[in-house]
Amino acid sequence: MSNRLIDAHIHLDMYKPAERSLILNDMKESGVDALITVSNHLASAQKNMQLARHDSRVKLSIGFHPEQPLPSDEDLADLLTLIDHHQHEIVAIGEIGLPYYLRREGKVASRGAYMDVLDAFIQKAVELDKPIALHAIYDDAPMACDLLEKHSAAKAHFHWFKGDWRTAERMLRNGYFVSVTPDILYKEKSRNLAGKYPLGKMMVETDGPWPFEGVFAGRMTHPNMIHRSIREMAELKRIPTVEVYDRLYDNTRWFYEL
Ligand SMILES: [Zn+2]
Repeated sequence: MSNRLIDAHIHLDMYKPAERSLILNDMKESGVDALITVSNHLASAQKNMQLARHDSRVKLSIGFHPEQPLPSDEDLADLLTLIDHHQHEIVAIGEIGLPYYLRREGKVASRGAYMDVLDAFIQKAVELDKPIALHAIYDDAPMACDLLEKHSAAKAHFHWFKGDWRTAERMLRNGYFVSVTPDILYKEKSRNLAGKYPLGKMMVETDGPWPFEGVFAGRMTHPNMIHRSIREMAELKRIPTVEVYDRLYDNTRWFYEL
């Protein structure tokens, strides 16, 4: 295995069918061995499940994305039941977390009920011994840490982590992982984090189809963009590129038990 990679966080269900086919057809040639596809809600989970069943390189994660109105009690119960019934098909619980952007836009007044939903998913992850894919950034990250610690959830992946270094240190003490996106090429905050967080606790992702800027402006987000992220990370960390490739690959395989 050399210069191969795994996209540790992508929303494959959100791509247009033609774009998705392009990505799947390109995987072998672009050095992408697997994709962890995370789900936003029930319909998203069902779509991702279908995709994972058709292609074994697509690894399924089920959760409820926090940057949307809360699920009804019934929807939440359905999601948790879906997870129970398909626990052997899923590699993780996610994307789950807290609504930073909705709070910032004034659309959500407090974290309250979102904390309860997150708590329910973390409990489910611990019960089924599954890793957790988290959207918990800035001042939400310590709140997510509180819940993870409360339930002694050991395997947590803070995707596209943004936040202060004190929180990052707490996450490190707990053995949590972070992943970086292609914005490592042009966003100072991402570059700082990528430079400081230990390679042994890192993964790489696209969060596709989320679009990127800089050299990626105007392009469909494709997992092959991660090659640029890895080369950039090697430079920032002053570690040989091949070592960075190998370590990130092993980290992701270990974390998601691929
Ligand atoms: Zn995401």
